[in-house]
Amino acid sequence: MEIVSTIREMCSISDELRKGGKTIVLVPTMGYFHEGHLSLMGEGRKRGDVLVVSLFVNPTQFGEGEDYEVYPRDFSRDKSLAEGTGVDILFVPTMEEMYPEGYQTFVEVERLTESMEGRFRPTHFRGVTTVVAKLFNIVRPHIAIFGEKDFQQLVVIRWMVEDLNMGVEIIGMPILRERDGLAMSSRNQYLTPDQRKAALSLNHSLQKAFQLFRSGERNPRRIIDAVKRVIEVEGEVTIDYVEIRDARTLEEIEIIEDQAIIALAAKVGKVRLIDNVILREG
Ligand code: AMP
Repeated sequence: MEIVSTIREMCSISDELRKGGKTIVLVPTMGYFHEGHLSLMGEGRKRGDVLVVSLFVNPTQFGEGEDYEVYPRDFSRDKSLAEGTGVDILFVPTMEEMYPEGYQTFVEVERLTESMEGRFRPTHFRGVTTVVAKLFNIVRPHIAIFGEKDFQQLVVIRWMVEDLNMGVEIIGMPILRERDGLAMSSRNQYLTPDQRKAALSLNHSLQKAFQLFRSGERNPRRIIDAVKRVIEVEGEVTIDYVEIRDARTLEEIEIIEDQAIIALAAKVGKVRLIDNVILREG
């Protein structure tokens, strides 16, 4: 595995690969790898000739008072996990290279980013789309892989790629969970044992939503109320939002037709967690 830390080197490698007719797959990450990240890399390995994983804790997607400074980092562990998963190139740019002095260009997807995560993190998606657009320009992948864990992010990126004619195929991968159902996240390690137990209510509440859907409930309001009741039993968990929306457009819906997404965010102590499940038959 090659470690590349300058944009210039990454660009010239990509150019050569493209000239040689190789298919480049990119998995963008902020590091501190868990099985969820590795599943994206495993899929990337299968889909292309050259697998590039970027590791960059992107400051522009963190709001004021969020956890940018304390976001977990462990480069040597990440390096060996990536190597063991068959990554060809680990791209690790520095902050100064990505956002040099005088930097002032941002990519913004509008309506889609106003609700759900965007309501609680108003500058978040602007940072995400900007860094992903930059990574696409630097790595020039044919295919990029993202997790459904960050469902709104996946939809926003698909929209950006379509609107700006970026010509990158976007693949979404299912959420990987711990054995007890908690969605894997680099932030889970902040949880105390008691908080970890309380955090399970998020997955339990989504299971409840799924059961209701399976038994024929199609009214979003009633499902959302039931989900909130499951979470609110846990004193230590504060809900930011629980929403049911069209899975493709993220528009609000009056009634669930063939499929929808139920997504939520909540704080367990100081740790903010998100999770979701797709409601569809079969
Ligand atoms: P992050 O390093 O948190 O920015 O995540 C990098 C990529 O991994 C994103 O596309 C995430 O959606 C994805 N990801 C994070 N957690 C999971 C998970 N539990 N299962 C699948 N993919 C995930």
